[in-house]
Amino acid sequence: MLSVTRSYLPNKEKFKAYVDQIYDSAWLTNNGHLLQTLEKRLADFLGVKHIILVANGSLALQLAYKALNLTGEVITTPFSFAATTSTLVWEGLKPVFADINPNSFNLNPQNIEALINSRTSAIVPVHVFGNPCEVDEIQAIANKHNLKVIYDAAHAFGSQYKGQSVLNYGDISTLSFHATKLFHTIEGGAVITSDDELARTIRTMINFGITGPTSIGHVGTNAKMNEFEAAMGLCVLDEIETIETERKRIWQKYLDSLHGKVQLQQWHQYGENNHAYVPVLFKSESELLVVEEKLKKNNIVPRRYFYPSLDTLDYLDASQVCKESRDISSRILCLPIFPGLSNEQQQEVIRLIEQIL
Ligand SMILES: *Cc1c(COP(=O)(O)O)cnc(C)c1O
Repeated sequence: MLSVTRSYLPNKEKFKAYVDQIYDSAWLTNNGHLLQTLEKRLADFLGVKHIILVANGSLALQLAYKALNLTGEVITTPFSFAATTSTLVWEGLKPVFADINPNSFNLNPQNIEALINSRTSAIVPVHVFGNPCEVDEIQAIANKHNLKVIYDAAHAFGSQYKGQSVLNYGDISTLSFHATKLFHTIEGGAVITSDDELARTIRTMINFGITGPTSIGHVGTNAKMNEFEAAMGLCVLDEIETIETERKRIWQKYLDSLHGKVQLQQWHQYGENNHAYVPVLFKSESELLVVEEKLKKNNIVPRRYFYPSLDTLDYLDASQVCKESRDISSRILCLPIFPGLSNEQQQEVIRLIEQIL
């Protein structure tokens, strides 16, 4: 069976050597040597000031909301993975959806201001499929209304905007290092900020709020990444160039073959693609369903990603309707892309889609 992604497994001998190190030191978690090494290397590689590694991308978002003292309502996008919304609700915040731009699939800044009121404390946009949001427009709105900006950048590892990491925008950006993501640590995530004070607060928050051997400074949780996960991260990072080259090659082949036959995501003019996903948009949901059925019959399992649109969730109040997001959600499919996807496998995916179009 061919799935939309396959977790990247780096050199096994190297991972085993790290496991031997962990056994020798008997230091399994709590700001270990491997975690510290990975943090330094990632800060360097991504070009960001502070990166705090955590247990997963959902906790990274929750820590960001807590550290920035968000209250009341938060304006966010309905076109994302469930975690963008559920983390807000989990933290007692109300997600207020602004509809997306149907070409970029990102939150449309023009829809934000009408939703701001005295209860609004922040904007949580998503760099959907790694595509940089209109970060300058969003920041201008946030400044005008004194709102915080937290980017759910779970897809944006390696995404560039105007020549630097897009992670440098907003008060905080968060990453997910889940096994299915472009760069991973099995389970894991990160909080990125350039604010020293905020970084210090988050570092204690991830360890129960403990500020010293006998002092607990504030409310905290357990969001620590362990040494085995950091070891996986170090191994994957060693191979990141191969990963990027492979993804780019596969992505380009899809583009060459499907260009003009399906609608593709419009990338930000100042952004650089990280080739994390291959989203394709069909003319209608019924066309999508025919394609999906055909692929499945041939043991290829694409994903309806993101579906459903989050403004349709039962646990939210039903009054928010985002037409563009619902429309895109109903017609979008993500195609298989991962290092190791063979030419023949990819050609088969393309052939089956072309047969139907
Ligand atoms: C994967 C993902 C998350 C959640 O990250 P986890 O590490 O799985 O908790 C959040 N937002 C988006 C957009 C994601 O794709």
